[in-house]
Amino acid sequence: MRAMTAVKVGRREHVESLVVIGNGMAAIRLVEELVRRKAPLQVTVIGDEPGPAYNRILLSAVLEGSHPATELRLKDLGWYAENGVELISGTRVARIDRGERVVWLADERVVPYDRLVLATGSVAALPPIRGLVTADGELSPRVHAFRSMADCTALLAALPAARRAVVVGGGLLGLQVARALGVRGVEVDLVEAAPHLLASHIGQPAGTVLRRSVEALGCEVYPETRAVKLTDEGLRLDTGYLLRADLFVITAGARPATSLAISAGLFVRRGVVVDDTLTTVSDERIHAIGDCAEYRGRTSGFVSPAWEQAGLLAARLCGGSERYEGSRVVARLRASDLEVAVLGDPEGTAGDVVEVANPVRGSYRKLVVRDGVVQAAVLLGDLSRIGLLTQLYDRRTVLGEGEPGQLILGKRPPGEGTVTLPDDVEVCACVGVSAGRIRACAGLAEVVGQTRATTGCGGCAGTVRMVLASRRVRPAPVAAVGQ
Ligand SMILES: Cc1cc2nc3c(=O)[nH]c(=O)nc-3n(C[C@H](O)[C@H](O)[C@H](O)COP(=O)(O)OP(=O)(O)OC[C@H]3O[C@@H](n4cnc5c(N)ncnc54)[C@H](O)[C@@H]3O)c2cc1C
Repeated sequence: MRAMTAVKVGRREHVESLVVIGNGMAAIRLVEELVRRKAPLQVTVIGDEPGPAYNRILLSAVLEGSHPATELRLKDLGWYAENGVELISGTRVARIDRGERVVWLADERVVPYDRLVLATGSVAALPPIRGLVTADGELSPRVHAFRSMADCTALLAALPAARRAVVVGGGLLGLQVARALGVRGVEVDLVEAAPHLLASHIGQPAGTVLRRSVEALGCEVYPETRAVKLTDEGLRLDTGYLLRADLFVITAGARPATSLAISAGLFVRRGVVVDDTLTTVSDERIHAIGDCAEYRGRTSGFVSPAWEQAGLLAARLCGGSERYEGSRVVARLRASDLEVAVLGDPEGTAGDVVEVANPVRGSYRKLVVRDGVVQAAVLLGDLSRIGLLTQLYDRRTVLGEGEPGQLILGKRPPGEGTVTLPDDVEVCACVGVSAGRIRACAGLAEVVGQTRATTGCGGCAGTVRMVLASRRVRPAPVAAVGQ
């Protein structure tokens, strides 16, 4: 790519310009792929957060203290310039003018584009709690959101003076924040409006097991309860109960950041609606990827679809003809002493259910199987099979009659400890490392040094060891069937 020296008004004649709005996890993967493919494009990335892109999914590890904030950076600042990519950071895009094909920045600069990519991510959803927001529209000083490095820094700064905290929202993010605060020695109450924790991913039986595990770690859970009012005394619940605390963290969901797209007249439902080329259905020069995009009525909120979309769009921008067909999601909780993984949509997927719960040990496993293929799964308390299960799920492997039962019962299936994952299976979701890259390393120290796998949530450590142990074994052929 040709280096660009300044923001210019007016069209460039020979090289198509691509402007990416947002410098988050989808945007950086897109740009990396474009650089790798030597795309004939003049690329400008505009992000409102300061500095280069960072790994957002490790923010809770930073909050917990298990990961240094300095190591979240996905690229150095110099990388952009060295690769001919202009980065405009710390500045918001305020408006898209589709007629003129320019974007207006909040500081009144204007950047022209031939093609535009929306990668604006999500914004925290604020539940209707009186007193949460001050008269000038800002969050009350004791209230924190948790989506960005700035949020994380602000929360860390508040911790030394905090003895008690209330976390509002018991989804994946709420659980991560509650656990992180607990690890930091803060007493935590967790308020969830649904009948149980992680309600958008798991059912009541799993929710019951999870609640016991969370409470065993010292966090009080208030399910089926709404926070209604924040006062000087504390947070009033709809049960009439008052939770006193020094700080309040809102983790009650997120919604796609679509205000820019809406004001530009693009078709937006929950997210910016795209087709299977990841092009908006309203404007063939504008694409959307990541959390802000909606494909076939679904938005994602997870990094793996964002990265899959980024890779596919990069290929298409370089002349490829790939088409997006949706992504399969593996959601994993990143919190010390809480092992939770959800594959697909276990509550919303039709199929035969194979399920086993042991509340005494805090373990629960569920598979949803249709035509012999794992369609969705939940693992709580023991993730030793997550590598194998993810492989079966991703590859749509057809299982024998007894295999689903073997997979979720205590006894390990024969040969599981040595199963060889194919090279392209992602093992470390935190930093995006495949089995092939791990297999290319001589040992764990080299894996850590070369790929940084296992240095995030650490949840992949067992699978990494398994892949290393199988270094000399050729990947087993896996029977895959279409969807
Ligand atoms: C604390 C936390 C933990 C998470 N953990 C996991 C996890 O374990 N696993 C998982 O799969 N997913 C996780 N997620 C979700 C994951 O981070 C997102 O799915 C992923 O970041 C999506 O990438 P994106 O590029 O679409 O959005 P983002 O990474 O959010 O990037 C969007 C960027 O665009 C910027 N932006 C928005 N509007 C504008 C504008 N007008 N002008 C300029 N810039 C703009 C935003 O400020 C942001 O920097 C987590 C999210 C959070 C917050």
